[in-house]
Amino acid sequence: MPKFRQRWSEPLATTAHPRSATALPCQACGSTALESFYELNGVPAHSCLLLPTRAQALAFPRGDLELVFCHDCGFIGNARFDIGLNRYSAAYEETQAFSPRFLKFLDEICHDQIRKSGLSPGMTALEIGCGKGEFLTRLCELSGCNGIGLDPGYHPERNQSIAAERMTFIRDLYGPRYAHLQAEYVSCRHTLEHIAPVQEFMRLVRETIGSRRHVSVFFELPDMERVLQTGVFWDVYYEHCTYFTRGSLARLFRAAGFDVIGLYKAYDDQYLMIEAKPAPGPTPSRLPQEDDLASTAALVRRFSKEVELRLQELAAAAQRWRRSGQKVAIWGSGSKSVSLMSSVDLGDTLQAIVDINPHKHGKFLAGSGREIQSPDALTALRPDAVIIMNSIYTEEIRHELASRGLKPELLPL
Ligand SMILES: [Zn+2]
Repeated sequence: MPKFRQRWSEPLATTAHPRSATALPCQACGSTALESFYELNGVPAHSCLLLPTRAQALAFPRGDLELVFCHDCGFIGNARFDIGLNRYSAAYEETQAFSPRFLKFLDEICHDQIRKSGLSPGMTALEIGCGKGEFLTRLCELSGCNGIGLDPGYHPERNQSIAAERMTFIRDLYGPRYAHLQAEYVSCRHTLEHIAPVQEFMRLVRETIGSRRHVSVFFELPDMERVLQTGVFWDVYYEHCTYFTRGSLARLFRAAGFDVIGLYKAYDDQYLMIEAKPAPGPTPSRLPQEDDLASTAALVRRFSKEVELRLQELAAAAQRWRRSGQKVAIWGSGSKSVSLMSSVDLGDTLQAIVDINPHKHGKFLAGSGREIQSPDALTALRPDAVIIMNSIYTEEIRHELASRGLKPELLPL
């Protein structure tokens, strides 16, 4: 039998002993009406940091997860998140930009954002947490605007764009020392979920904009509603210390002095998009999709059961592969696979972890200590089954496998 470490908790309501974490107020609204609903101990503190040796990957610091739900604003956060374990640096390798499917999506959102914000030559776009700068660069290329990007993980040598001369990259985390940066457009993609003091962060963003009410604001982050509905526990990991649904995200923006003008899901409903304009003060809810507090509370109560079902399905697949002596590979070495391997032990059946990002090849995954290989390694291995860590890439991966003469069973997650 494959080993499964079942370490999530029952909802707090059925637990006799109170948890210290629930004494902490909500990071989004300050309420103390928090309910603990999911627990996972000893998970790798980072999942996108690549380690040069197996020993370093195995010894990588671990932290604990305890998801709490705020009954007043719907915010979900890891009550046991320890910022001291954060190590964001140039070794952080999060980019998905080696995937044609992802690049197409990036182009679509750039065109959409330029149309909505009116970005044009002479204007400036600021991106907080710009990663490798793909979005900001494409925005500058397509609109002719100037760009300012902030991220400790930016690699200037990888940016070959002709728009680079109109762009300034600051290899640092955003903070009060950058409150003077002025821009007509402020974006923040896949960053808010890495920030614990979200209320403080949003206030700072609002302060940076000041009285310039014409500024357009766009945030993109994972959607927690889908994770709760489907029990996809591999989308919950230590690096993500905060989780939002449409309602809780809108409430955070409104309380910080923004009016929410757009609120929707994208990328097969995996991502949450919010478009906002600065307002003189807090704004009242006015979009129907913000009204999700009761439905989120119901999903939170069911989450552990959904996770159990996903674990049982994976256990059944792993048992079947093991019995028939089949070889399995995982395609995708990002946070999802680190998270999957923290909960599921596929043992000897798992023969390879591959990724299309060449910057990851030959490096090791925190926690499991597995080496990341090029998809070319599968040509010799000839796996019987391939676990696809993000189902949105299924057709792209099926094509990549076929081009190597491979037709394994696919298990898209
Ligand atoms: Zn709250």
